[in-house]
Amino acid sequence: MPSSPTASAEPAPRRAITAADKALEKLGLVRDIDLALHLPLRYEDETRVVPIATLRDGETGQVEATVAESRIQFRPRRQLVVTLKDEHGDDLVLRFLHFYPSQQKTLAVGRLVRARGEARGGFFGLEMVHPAAKVVTAGAPLPTSLTPVYPTTVQLSQAVLRKAVAGGLARADLDEIVPPALMPARLPTLREALRRLHEPAPGLDAQPLEDRSHPAWQRLKFDELLAQQLSQLQAKRERERQRAPVLRQGRGGLHESLLAQLPFQLTPAQRRVADEIARDLGRAVPMHRLLQGDVGSGKTVVAALAATVVIGAGWQCALMAPTEILAEQHLKKLVGWLAPLGITVAWLTGSRKGKARAKMLEQVASGEAALVVGTHAVIEEQVRFARLGLAIIDEQHRFGVTQRLALRAKLVDQTGPSPARGRDGEGAGPLHTEGEDRAQLGPRLEPHMLMMSATPIPRTLAMTLFADLDVSTIDELPPGRTPVETRLFSDSKRDEVIARIRDEAGRGRQVYWVCPLVEASAALDLQNARETHTQLCEALPDMMIGLIHGRMPAAEKTAVMSMFAGGQIAVLVATTVIEVGVDVANASLMVVEHAERFGLSQLHQLRGRVGRGPTASVCVLLYTAPLSDAAKARLKAMLETGDGFEISRRDLEIRGPGEMLGARQSGAALLRFADPLEDEALLLEARRVAEALLESHPVLADRHVERWLGDRAHYLNA
Ligand code: ADP
Ligand code: MG
Repeated sequence: MPSSPTASAEPAPRRAITAADKALEKLGLVRDIDLALHLPLRYEDETRVVPIATLRDGETGQVEATVAESRIQFRPRRQLVVTLKDEHGDDLVLRFLHFYPSQQKTLAVGRLVRARGEARGGFFGLEMVHPAAKVVTAGAPLPTSLTPVYPTTVQLSQAVLRKAVAGGLARADLDEIVPPALMPARLPTLREALRRLHEPAPGLDAQPLEDRSHPAWQRLKFDELLAQQLSQLQAKRERERQRAPVLRQGRGGLHESLLAQLPFQLTPAQRRVADEIARDLGRAVPMHRLLQGDVGSGKTVVAALAATVVIGAGWQCALMAPTEILAEQHLKKLVGWLAPLGITVAWLTGSRKGKARAKMLEQVASGEAALVVGTHAVIEEQVRFARLGLAIIDEQHRFGVTQRLALRAKLVDQTGPSPARGRDGEGAGPLHTEGEDRAQLGPRLEPHMLMMSATPIPRTLAMTLFADLDVSTIDELPPGRTPVETRLFSDSKRDEVIARIRDEAGRGRQVYWVCPLVEASAALDLQNARETHTQLCEALPDMMIGLIHGRMPAAEKTAVMSMFAGGQIAVLVATTVIEVGVDVANASLMVVEHAERFGLSQLHQLRGRVGRGPTASVCVLLYTAPLSDAAKARLKAMLETGDGFEISRRDLEIRGPGEMLGARQSGAALLRFADPLEDEALLLEARRVAEALLESHPVLADRHVERWLGDRAHYLNA
């Protein structure tokens, strides 16, 4: 809708915003290029019609036949029933459960109709429910190319969407951006590729188009991966231009004190990643590092070591965890290690209110609290840091992209202006927090960031999704762990499992019993957890059985957790609140009820809750048949491997990368076309081209990113 550039005071007449426009916008289809890049899911072959007699149950086909009968039927529910008879005298029933009166008029007796849909064997022979049906004149030509079917929403019909896409395709600027010399030679131009995909030529085989192996698809995947690589490399370069506080440990400082006081030796892998982090902290460029390691590999102590470097240099450190229970586990552990070194730790969560909260906020703002541990409450509006040097985010993929963006924005705002007197360093000035000081002290500093994840991802994927991150990997577990034995039981064998609990608890060991809790069926799930709790109480009357779930008040949860940690509770029935981070070494049996409903990495995390001490531990997966193929694959993986990297690999195969990494939440940022696992070769090419393009034609790089991502680029770098 062109707006007039005249100086008239009257606003230019605008085309009314229609329902269709709104629906298009909802799909993210705003610019012409968005429409052009909205690609078909599949194609319908309307280029031929078949005799009714050749239709097969379950197959899709198009017929052309005359309406022999048309009536509204009221049982079992109101519907329009149209019977067609073709030239060979065969019948086909069409059923419309939702219809307009106009449809009934159109599909009148005697009319010639083309109907396309899936044939089903009904009570009275073959029928089609809600076929695409239109009235035609005898001999009307059939379409000559396949008809694209686009992803859409209920508010937007294929016909309207097709027209919009065709318009976008005609108007969009599709000129080549990347100089041909840099492009892989075998790929068609963007214009050719899009024409091929939206308007496949007559007689073309739809298969390579639908399975996305066609060169036209290769070109689109390549362009998409290129945009993503470019945008992340740009973000990385951007960050490398920022300044961060230089944080170095002094000799004999906190860092060494902590090491000296740990009840165990660091594993070589822990030492290596701790060094990588310390090296980054000592540079004036903001660290942006992902620390990945299997559940139980000992990431917390690495985080604590990083915190001592930061605090020793006179700065604050924040640690944020996705749940209150997890944050609390961290708190306990960190206070245990750091309080003896004279470090004040503040605790910030949503449930902490009133005076206690005000006092914490004050300690954080004054810099007295050198370490701040909590949930996302750590980044709430009212929280002000005196001089934040490092932010650590545990289970980072469980935070949404929006939260991560908010965090970064917030943190940049919170970093102190200059190094003050470090605990370990030589004397510097007092704390500066005033704006004027800031201005005098030169460029604003960004904090360092460390993200931790117990869902280690393969190299290729890390490279695609986090091209702007550096990755440290803990690839060994602390010594003395006994591998957990995993066993699968049908729910009908529940009694055997309960007998096993009696044995285990009789020997003074503790047991987790985890029940699923899915948001969609939360009330029912909770009831199941309660029933399981009651059942166990009845079956094991002389034992203390606890129950913990997300709906309980925080104080109650904490009380139950600490009774379990203290050994008073023998069996803890829980919904997944214990999923991550809980550390009770005396627990030796993990029972997962309805294991088929859990995701693979969730199951692996749960299994990681036992086997934390020297005794042999068991993980029992209780399942209820029937199992879907995906559920079978997950349970099989659990039986076959205990290795977190292998689990991640299998999870990726079963689920696909977007879902696994919670990238779903990032919506628009997901790769739409390329699959980083399957398209590894393309990805590596895109990476090379991205580097070359940034080097030689940075302006073209911007144009390519703009074409593909528009204003969504920043989501990819969250
Ligand atoms: P995760 O990587 O899953 O966060 P944690 O940091 O919770 O693992 O560590 C799991 C357990 O292993 C904790 O009890 C921790 O104190 C212990 N631990 C960590 N490092 C070592 C080590 N090098 N030797 C022995 N135990 C260790
Ligand atoms: Mg952890």
